Amino acid sequence: MPFYTMNELLAIDPAADWCIGHFNVHNYTTLGGVIRAAEETRSPAILALGAQAYRHIGMENIIALCRSAAEQSSGKFALHVDHARDLKLIGKALRLGVSSVMFDGSSLPFKDNIRMTREMVQMAHDYGASAEGEVGEVPMPGGSRDDIMYTDPDQAAEFAEKTGVDFLAVSLGSIHGMKTSSMDLDQELLKKLRSIGVPLVLHGASGVTEDAIRKATRNGLRKININTALKGAAVSRIRERLAQDPDCDLLPLLESGREGVRALAAHYMELFGSAGRLEGCRVSENTLPEHMLQGE
Ligand SMILES: [Zn+2]
Repeated sequence: MPFYTMNELLAIDPAADWCIGHFNVHNYTTLGGVIRAAEETRSPAILALGAQAYRHIGMENIIALCRSAAEQSSGKFALHVDHARDLKLIGKALRLGVSSVMFDGSSLPFKDNIRMTREMVQMAHDYGASAEGEVGEVPMPGGSRDDIMYTDPDQAAEFAEKTGVDFLAVSLGSIHGMKTSSMDLDQELLKKLRSIGVPLVLHGASGVTEDAIRKATRNGLRKININTALKGAAVSRIRERLAQDPDCDLLPLLESGREGVRALAAHYMELFGSAGRLEGCRVSENTLPEHMLQGE
């Protein structure tokens, strides 16, 4: 099966009260866990790739692995490039067959963010892929509450109009890379941003309380990114297994890690409300561009 765009998976519906999960994958420990969770919960899902995965096994390898796993799956997936700051990298990923890309210009001057994001949107749309940009700044791992730059609604509206992004990442109070879920979100700001009419994305959701995620889903969030918590779930299962059996072989250890990812991803799919939505996706396969159908 080909990869779907995020728009196709989400089946844009202004009245919808569920979010699609974006799960960062790095190898088969995380990828296999997410795919199994999506199959088990009948949930559409976004497989997301970033610098960690490229450093770990290389962009070509992780894309090929995702393609092969998705082709053999009964699920429906988008393949998304997360946090690219280099348009050349985005071009390479699009040529390799990803169905969605994000340019992160959140730390650039606003005008430069608009200019480069607009260029990325054009590139993505030329390939029939969906495009995400960011306004405001969700601090990177190690950042503090003082580093959060909440999204300004007027800037967000201008950005959405001038760039034509399909998805807009906004800063509502989360921080990337948190290992505990303690952060709350500015729900009033989210309600204002919702009126812009572009599907909104939350980064750094591993550190956000489940209560805040539930409220944000009702208040108009449409895509939620999870990375740190999945890796943490794998590590804790591997640690447990090693405690039980210090001589455990590598492969059973990795399988335990994958099982930890599967269980947590399935939990998030239920929490986001995407579970059971697979058949509801308004996916029109015949509109997918030719390059995404190769290998069918
Ligand atoms: Zn992020």
